[in-house]
Amino acid sequence: MRKKWLVGNWKMHGNLASNRTLIEQLRAELPALTEGVEMVVCPAFPYIPQLAELLKSSGIHLGAQNASDHLNGMYTGEVSPLMLHELGCDSVIIGHSERRYYQHENDGLMGRKSLAAIDAGLVPIICVGETAEERDAGRTHEVLARQLDAAFGYIRTAHDKIILAYEPRWAIGTGIAATPEIVQEELAFLRARVAQRDQAFADNLPILYGGSVKASNASSLFNMPDIDGGLIGSAALDANEFVAIYKALVASHKEA
Ligand code: PEP
Repeated sequence: MRKKWLVGNWKMHGNLASNRTLIEQLRAELPALTEGVEMVVCPAFPYIPQLAELLKSSGIHLGAQNASDHLNGMYTGEVSPLMLHELGCDSVIIGHSERRYYQHENDGLMGRKSLAAIDAGLVPIICVGETAEERDAGRTHEVLARQLDAAFGYIRTAHDKIILAYEPRWAIGTGIAATPEIVQEELAFLRARVAQRDQAFADNLPILYGGSVKASNASSLFNMPDIDGGLIGSAALDANEFVAIYKALVASHKEA
C-alpha cells in the first residue's frame, strides 16, 4: 500500500512565536504519528533552522517551499537545495501555482528545479494544475500532460523519488475545493500518464490533492482511490484544522 502524505505549506506566514505555538500544539495533539501516514511542514526559508529544532524527534518532516535549480553559484537571492538539505529539510515544493503566477516560473524551470532537488537529496513535491480559464476551455488534460511531461523530462524513474500534487489554481486559497469526483478524475489521469512511462513507478507514486482542503471536506476527498494525501495551505496554519485533516487521512488509510 502507498504511504499517505499530509504537507502543510505555510506560505509567507508565521513568526518565531507563532511557529513555536503551532508546532507545540501539533505535537501535543499528535504525540505519535501513525505508521504509513507522513506529515511535512514547509515554513518560509528563515524559519527552517527554528523548525528543525522544534520538530526534533517528532516524526514530522521538514520541507521547503521552493529551491533554486542550481546547487551553488552566482545566483543572488536564491537558495540551493543543498543548503536546505544541510539544514534538515527532506522535501521541497516545486512549481507551486503561486510561483508560476507571481514569479512567472515555467514548466522547464520546474523540471530543472525538480532535478536539482533530487540531486541534493530532497524529494520534490511537484505541483501541477490548471487555471479556471483552462478548465472552462476544456484544456485541463492538455495542461496537466504538458506540465507532467516537462517534469518527467528530468526525472529518472528507475531511482528518483518524487511526490506529485494536483493543485488546480482555481481551488487554491479560494475556499472552494474541487469536488472529490473531479480530483479523482484528474489524479487517475495523471497516474495513467505516468504509467505510460513506467507502470511500477506510477503504482508507487504518491499523488496529493491541494486546494482549499479543510477538516470539513477532508474525508470525502481522501476516500477517493487515487488520492494519497493533501497539500494544505490556510488550514495548515490552524493546529486544530491540520490535526483533524491528519486524522481524516489516517482513517482513509485504515479503510483502504
Ligand atoms: C496551497 O498553498 O498549496 C494550498 C492548497 O492552499 P489552500 O489550502 O489555502 O487552498
